[in-house]
Amino acid sequence: MSDHSATGAAAPVSNFIRAIIDEDLRTAKWGGRVETRFPPEPNGYLHYGHAKSICLNFGLARDYGGVCHLRFDDTNPEKEEQEYVDAIIEAVSWLGFDWGEHLYFASDYFDTMYACATKLIEADKAYVDSLPADEMRALRGTLTEAGKDSPYRNRGVAENLDLFARMRDGEFAEGAHVLRAKVDMASPNINLRDPVIYRIRRVPHHRSGDRWCVYPLYTFAHPIEDAIENITHSVCTLEFEDQRPFYDWLLDALAEAGQFTRPLPRQIEFARLNLTYVVLSKRKLIQLVDDGHVAGWDDPRLPTLVGARRRGFTAEGFRMFAERIGVSKSDSWIDMSVLEECMRDHLNDVAERRVAVLDPLRLVITNYPEGQRELCEAPNHPLKPELGTRTMPFGRELWIEREDFMEVPSKGFRRLFPDNLVRLRYGYVVKCTGCEKDADGNVTTVLAEYMPDSKSGTPGADTYKVKGNLHWVSVAEGCKAEVRLYDRLFAHPYPGARREGDAEGVERSHIDDLNPDSMRTITAWLEPGLRDVRAEQRYQFERHGYFVADRVDSVAGAPVFNRTVTLKDSWSKGKQ
Ligand code: ATP
Ligand code: MG
Repeated sequence: MSDHSATGAAAPVSNFIRAIIDEDLRTAKWGGRVETRFPPEPNGYLHYGHAKSICLNFGLARDYGGVCHLRFDDTNPEKEEQEYVDAIIEAVSWLGFDWGEHLYFASDYFDTMYACATKLIEADKAYVDSLPADEMRALRGTLTEAGKDSPYRNRGVAENLDLFARMRDGEFAEGAHVLRAKVDMASPNINLRDPVIYRIRRVPHHRSGDRWCVYPLYTFAHPIEDAIENITHSVCTLEFEDQRPFYDWLLDALAEAGQFTRPLPRQIEFARLNLTYVVLSKRKLIQLVDDGHVAGWDDPRLPTLVGARRRGFTAEGFRMFAERIGVSKSDSWIDMSVLEECMRDHLNDVAERRVAVLDPLRLVITNYPEGQRELCEAPNHPLKPELGTRTMPFGRELWIEREDFMEVPSKGFRRLFPDNLVRLRYGYVVKCTGCEKDADGNVTTVLAEYMPDSKSGTPGADTYKVKGNLHWVSVAEGCKAEVRLYDRLFAHPYPGARREGDAEGVERSHIDDLNPDSMRTITAWLEPGLRDVRAEQRYQFERHGYFVADRVDSVAGAPVFNRTVTLKDSWSKGKQ
């Protein structure tokens, strides 16, 4: 469970949901109890948006000494799969939350839901409608026009009970009848115009098999699930605001019928996370995976939580993000840089420093004896001496970054160019003496001489004042590795949205806005200590950013690293 001080996050800021809970505690409405739930439908992988909801619901329970349930809202038999259930369980615990014994499946409540429907019929608050779907739709009215009663609306209780039981027993074809709540066909809120609450579906369910051929609809099932679990505060996203009157109507009717006791759970809506440069809709994510735009659900570029984990994003970073963005009642967009900055802040704190040369160029120190090597000592974390030091072998031939040498320096260039002195970080000061080129004029080797009395950490080191400070890796002992340079999946902040200059009538899709440079694979040289890195180990590669050993492909002896995030935000400066 998260500890605010350990993540660098501020103590929880109050918000309108906390204000409601505080008031409920003050009036002892729930006898001090706070019980929330995170209710995913197991029809896809969790994404960054779900992380906001998870952190909110589990965070409230944590901060108020309550509990948060993990509940699979699996009442729709058509799109749900065990694979998703397993992935969701893994993702929520990866985020650092614990539901204890409170793991629930809405499908386990099918009996109670059926009983609730029967109680509504008995109270003359539900009826079996036998109109074809299109006729039912035609009677529903519009936003400006009231609906009209179905001819079946006044069926008697006994007939309704009989028909509903026979629906359950499989006597009818799909679509022949539905069960509707009897609320108000003239209500200005369309959701109250006798919503369908049960339908016939001859589809096996991933958990209940073919035991049922009638299934409850979400708007009916969800409030009942909350009431069965004694949820106090049922937090959901704003699109359910118009459903709240039915939520309340239903639970009130069921309390009247003796099914539930008061107080009844209260639905509270907050604004969903909208994040630039990604899409947060299961449908669009499924399309990206199915059409092969990414390598799978855990592709590090995909805004899924399994993708985030593989990318090297951290649970602490997500929790910090949730605290920073807070919750509100109005829809807004959060810039991707906010999430990336949270990851940087956490990684800067916890990731040890290492050296990697991503675009290698050979440096030969001509006055360093051939065959000789020595160790240089480097701190693991500049701000945390308690994390100790490590050594790196130094020798006559080193890899440096290609961009750290210019034969003819541009203005302000302080790194290697003929006659200039730089420090090889944690090692010696060297003076560039020239370079070698191939037939095409490309630089193949940089030549330099070192100052034997200049080694870092020795008394002589201070006498050299140099402006450049370069990282390097021993050619003889460095570790060659695949490194995947990930970047944002989309090149535009609002993927798929119309932009100025788009031709009239032309629809843009998020697929059109994919970033062609979202992944580049390179071969890099790493300091030799990284050869046996464990999967998921995270580091800051000095001057480059934060990297993680890939949890799927990285093995001891043959590391594969993913770039999690660069050291600085390069997008806000108008990279596009
Ligand atoms: P999608 O719209 O991508 O299909 P969903 O809302 O249908 O997602 P659910 O499995 O129903 O997915 O979501 C579980 C919980 O996560 C719900 O309470 C939902 O409100 C919340 N949630 C989903 N997307 C977001 C988001 N972008 N920001 C915050 N909460 C979200
Ligand atoms: Mg949903």
